[in-house]
Parts: sequence; C-alpha cells; structure tokens
Amino acid sequence: MGGLAPDGRIREQPEPVTSVDTRSPETLVIIGSGPSAWTAAIYAARANLRPVVYEGEPSREMIPGGQLMYTTEVENYPGFIDGVTGPELMEKLRAQAIRFGTRVEQENIASVEFGQHPFRLKPSYSDDIEALTVIVATGARANWLGVPNEERLAQMGGGVSACAVCDGALPAFRDKVLAVVGGGDSAMEEALYLTKFANEVRLIHRRDELRASRIMADRVLKHPKITPVWNTRVVEVLGYDAITGIRVENTVSGEKSDMPVGGLFIAIGHTPNTAFLNGQLEVTPHGYIKTPKAWRTATSMPGVFAAGDVMDDYYRQAITAAGTGCMAALEAERWLAHLGLGESPVLETAEAPVTLTQEWKAS
Ligand code: FAD
Ligand code: NAP
Repeated sequence: MGGLAPDGRIREQPEPVTSVDTRSPETLVIIGSGPSAWTAAIYAARANLRPVVYEGEPSREMIPGGQLMYTTEVENYPGFIDGVTGPELMEKLRAQAIRFGTRVEQENIASVEFGQHPFRLKPSYSDDIEALTVIVATGARANWLGVPNEERLAQMGGGVSACAVCDGALPAFRDKVLAVVGGGDSAMEEALYLTKFANEVRLIHRRDELRASRIMADRVLKHPKITPVWNTRVVEVLGYDAITGIRVENTVSGEKSDMPVGGLFIAIGHTPNTAFLNGQLEVTPHGYIKTPKAWRTATSMPGVFAAGDVMDDYYRQAITAAGTGCMAALEAERWLAHLGLGESPVLETAEAPVTLTQEWKAS
C-alpha cells in the first residue's frame, strides 16, 4: 500500500496498527495546522503542556498549513505592514510554535475515540496515541465548482477567489466587472462587499430564485452595482496567467456564451473538516462543531476543545481562527489544572470544567 508523504513523494504505508504507543498519554494533542492550531500550540507550549500537533498530509482537498497556503497576499493579518504571503505567514506561525517546544507529526488523525479517557486517536500511519486533552483545529474548506482553470488560477492569485473579504480589496480587482457565483447568504455578502471596489458585480446563480434570506436578497437585488444573472452556471474559467472571463451555460436552454470578467468569487458554501470525528462531537445543522457556551471553545465532550473555522461559520478569518486557538489552549490548560493533571497559573480565576460523567470519574 502507498501513501502521499508530506514532501509530496509516494511512501510506503505500513499495515494498520491498533496497539497504543507507549509514550502515551500525551497531555495535549492539537489536530490541524492552520492559524488556530499553531496559535493554540504557541500558548500551550509556553504553558509547558508539551503539545503535539498533527499537522495533516497533503491531499487534493487539504494541505498542511491550511487555507492560507492557497493564497498569495494576506493584507489584513495584524503586524505585517506590507502584507505577507499566506505560505510565509503559516511557516512563521509553525516555526514560532516549534521554538517553544511543540512536537509536530506530519500525519492526519484518521479517527478518534472520545468515549474513553484518556482519549484515543488513530493517526493515518503510526500507532494509536492517547491524549488527556484534544484541540480540534481542522478548519473548513471552501467548496469549489471543479471547472477547468478554477483551481490553478485560485492557487496562483490569478483572479479566482473564495473569499471577497480577504481578496476583494487587492488592486487586481479594483474598477473591474466581477462575478460572484452562488445564491445563498454568503454569495449575497460577497457581492455586497465587492461593490466597494468593482464597477459592476454579476451575481451568477444556477436557478431563478435565491436561497439567501429575504433581507440579504432584497439588499442585493436593489443594489445599483449588482446585476443578477439567473439560470446560469460557470463551465470554465478563461485566461492563462490571470482570468479574462468565464464560459457560462444557461441551465434552461443549454446555450453557452463567454462573459468577460476581471475576477471570479466562488461562494457556494464551505465544508468543515469533521468527517474523522465520526459524529462524536455535536455539530450545527451545517456540520460545524458546536461550542455551546458563548466565548468558550469547549465542545460537547469535556476535555475536547474546538478552534478556528471548524467551529466558526461566521467570521472565517485567519485572525479570528488564531484568536479561538488561543482561547482553546487556555481552556485546555485550565481544564487540566482542575482535574489535577497539570498546573495552571490562572487556576484561581478559572471556571469549573463541565461536570464529568461517572464513567470519566472512574477512569
Ligand atoms: P485551516 O486554515 O482551515 O487549516 C486546517 C488544516 O488542518 C487543513 O488544511 C489540514 O491541513 C489540517 N487538517 C484537517 N483535517 C485534519 C486531520 N484530520 N488531521 C490532521 N490535520 C488535519 N483570512 C484572512 O484573515 N485573510 C486573508 O487574506 C485570507 N485569505 C484567504 C484566501 C483563501 C483562498 C482562502 C480559502 C481563505 C482565506 N482566508 C483569509 C480565510 C483563512 O484562511 C481561514 O479563516 C483560516 O485559515 C482558518 O484557519 P484554521 O486554523 O481554522 O484552519
Ligand atoms: P448555502 O446557503 O448552502 O448556499 C449555497 C449556494 O450555492 C446555493 O444558492 C446553491 O445553489 C449554490 N451552489 C451550491 N453548489 C453549487 C454549484 N456546484 N454550482 C453552483 N451553485 C452552487 O451556503 P452559504 O451561502 O455559504 O450559507 C451557509 C449558511 O450560513 C446558511 O445558513 C446561511 O444563512 C448562513 N450565512 C448567513 C450569513 C448572514 O446572515 N449574514 C452570511 C453567510 C452565511 P442552490 O440554491 O441552487 O442550491
């Protein structure tokens, strides 16, 4: 059996193992490698929790370092006056976490067993591990159309994006005709946001009725800079180094035509990366991990915390992901301290953790 190594080469994949690594249990395992995971690791390492980060493996849908690995300029992350590229920012966050003693494993966590404590986690290739606390920071991925040139131009900063708030203000998109695909609230928000920079925004929807809430839809349909394009789907992105237009198809007549545009924003929803949890944490109707208490990252399972886009379908920004990563690390530290499993200088002010079940107390 083969597998894709983090450096992109094919490597041998050992037979599945079920034994538990004797180094276990880890104090804190952080799953993921976006801004939330590395921020959690920086805080946890500085609190002597000896965190281990499972940063994941490259695949068609995900890449270690997270969503910012797909973008060029990040201009809204504080501290970088002239902006920073996504990959460079992620390399800096990772190096900062390692500097304070974070251990990094270049594997996915393929499955978890949260019904026992210590928790049991199964990496894709190596032995199972146990953990006293876990932070899930696996992010979400923007859904893409899957049409020719879309992925290539998105990755090279060629005018295709899944985030208007992130990219809309870039010079490449100013005073152009821009297209937004989708009919939900996200597409409405993207279209409205882009009117600040574009000459015209074309809202391309595959049906003749929007899915978005009435108030958002009304705002969009009344906006003088937004033109809805009904019953239309994008079948190809045109352009080599940068987008020059889109090929569209009328979903009723099947007729195809080319539409010149200077930018394409895909807003057809996001998918949180939670499949490996196999339903063991409560999620929202859209699949995001529930953190029931306001301003807390504790999930439905005591001792498991969630940070970043995997629990946030609202802000979806690098800085908010980093913020919740910090919160998760502090909560994990306090939770361990309350159980007598670690030391926390903030114990005096910490809230009691969620009451443990009988099964937990026994373990
Ligand atoms: P993510 O960045 O989503 O990363 C999570 C990573 O965890 C995954 O990529 C994967 O490698 C790893 N992982 C997933 N599952 C597993 C598993 N089972 N085991 C181990 N590892 C796993 N925001 C801004 O603030 N400014 C911008 O300019 C900006 N530009 C963007 C441009 C693009 C094209 C995109 C798509 C997003 C952009 N964003 C921007 C949004 C920002 O990237 C996200 O809000 C942020 O990356 C979310 O961070 P996260 O920590 O939740 O994890
Ligand atoms: P969504 O509601 O699922 O809408 C996705 C849209 O994309 C739909 O219109 C869908 O078309 C279209 N679509 C999906 N796949 C497509 C494809 N392959 N090709 C073309 N079009 C495709 O997702 P969302 O807009 O991201 O919203 C998710 C949730 O967050 C919703 O509950 C929403 O209300 C909420 N949200 C709220 C706000 C706000 O209140 N300010 C902002 C953003 C999001 P169909 O309609 O034909 O299925």
